[in-house]
Amino acid sequence: MAYKLPEMGYPYSALAPSISEKQLRLHHEKHHKAYVDAANELLEKLSKARKENGELDMKAMLKALSFNAAGHMLHSLFWKNLSPKPGSPSKKLLKAIEDEFGSVERFKKEFTQAAVSTEGSGWAALAYDEENRKLMLMQIEKHNVNLVPSLKLLLVLDVWEHAYYLDYENARAKFVEAFWNIADLGEASKRFEKL
Ligand code: MN
Repeated sequence: MAYKLPEMGYPYSALAPSISEKQLRLHHEKHHKAYVDAANELLEKLSKARKENGELDMKAMLKALSFNAAGHMLHSLFWKNLSPKPGSPSKKLLKAIEDEFGSVERFKKEFTQAAVSTEGSGWAALAYDEENRKLMLMQIEKHNVNLVPSLKLLLVLDVWEHAYYLDYENARAKFVEAFWNIADLGEASKRFEKL
């Protein structure tokens, strides 16, 4: 078994003008694929070392594996979170958003702030904490720093420069604003209802 680059559920051109065909293709075919390939190479290296009873630099191995595997998983979620015809939140998700944030507007404002202010490369995420039964926001640096392990991810936004630079240059806030045109809260609802 190995990680696999998922197929996109829509053509590369489908999210324009929020994300251009060129930007989306590059992001999926090059950047996401690089995480898949690197994670698979690391898993092979681990397996080889185990078979041969060889030595590993465990610290470096686990750091790289966490970065690349999480990169792959977050991107796989991200493509599903986007849609040319985004759905609305279900009743259940809407209620959870209103209970936690007060309103959808307030949720979007906080998520936007999390995305815009992420230091360097990272992600904003809406997640669910099953222990406290509440929605939580996460601001993930790189793909794996500040991640709370047991939270279930519902909606993620990639704010690495490679996600938007061709379309928006350094104007991350404009990209985040455009995200709301293609953010599929219907898909996030499906994930929420399954919990
Ligand atoms: Mn990315």
